[in-house]
Amino acid sequence: MHELNYEAPTSLDQAISVLAAAGENGRMLAGGTDLIIQMRAGVRQPGQVIDAKKIPELQALSFDAQTGLQLGAARACCDIIADATVQQHYPGLAEAAALIGSDQILARASVGGNVCNGSPAADTTPALIALGAVCQIAGPNGTREVAVEDFVTAPGQTVLAPNELLVAFQIPAPQGSADCYQRFIPRNEMDIAVVGVGSCVALDGDTCTAARIGLGAVAARPLLAKEAGDSLVGKTLDDAAIDAAAQLAQQAASPISDMRGTAEFRTHLVGVLTRRTLKEAAARAR
Ligand SMILES: Cc1cc2nc3c(=O)[nH]c(=O)nc-3n(C[C@H](O)[C@H](O)[C@H](O)COP(=O)(O)OP(=O)(O)OC[C@H]3O[C@@H](n4cnc5c(N)ncnc54)[C@H](O)[C@@H]3O)c2cc1C
Repeated sequence: MHELNYEAPTSLDQAISVLAAAGENGRMLAGGTDLIIQMRAGVRQPGQVIDAKKIPELQALSFDAQTGLQLGAARACCDIIADATVQQHYPGLAEAAALIGSDQILARASVGGNVCNGSPAADTTPALIALGAVCQIAGPNGTREVAVEDFVTAPGQTVLAPNELLVAFQIPAPQGSADCYQRFIPRNEMDIAVVGVGSCVALDGDTCTAARIGLGAVAARPLLAKEAGDSLVGKTLDDAAIDAAAQLAQQAASPISDMRGTAEFRTHLVGVLTRRTLKEAAARAR
């Protein structure tokens, strides 16, 4: 059995110092619903684990009508889905977070952990991409910001250096906009997305002024289907415009075939879920 040090810093500065001292050997721990399973399986064997749950900045959950939602990376999903502001302004994020495991998992799991784990099929990542969320990162050399769509680089890999941690997500305030997240799984719950799609649309009257579509489980990392979203700007969101955007989203996807579904089935699902989430987001925005 390998030796393991555990620290639970109560400030961001302390956490950065411990992480920097540990180097490649350090690993942040939020809910542990991915990390502890990976440690038990021997997939990851950190010598230093740094608990994120006692750092105030990583527990933020506050909304400002100008700047939007500040969501701490370690805040438990159960708090996020119960939050009236999130339900009102970011229903798609609430939908995505609510899908993570069971009540027991939701009580521990964080959105930050979901994104940092780097799974192409993580449910909250496409929802955050649709919302235009930005990752706030801190390390010994200061802070930096990275768009969520640029954060995961490959399965299990992110832009984080070993001495950096994810502090929070800054999610823009809705401007006549609303979001929606849906996924397909072959059973009712507790499964990994075969495909997940998050959409966010802004409307001025009947005209779409902005649209973003995030795709999960259809490439080596979660994707922003930029051309698909951009194609809707300046248009009325009728069936023709939505069908055209869904086709562009299908073209952005490059899925594999595996035990969960064939590439052809996944491409079909991207079309179905893009149409459904765009229609629902538009209805909510109205
Ligand atoms: C039964 C079960 C069902 C599940 N169902 C789903 C599902 O339906 N959909 C889904 O998407 N996921 C699902 N998961 C996966 C998991 O629960 C999520 O990915 C969860 O959101 C991870 O968050 P966490 O806080 O537990 O992260 P942890 O396990 O603590 O950490 C995950 C990874 O992120 C890193 N990390 C965490 N926080 C930070 C930070 N602040 N800075 C830098 N790195 C950090 C850790 O070092 C680790 O590598 C399920 C898991 C289980 C066990």
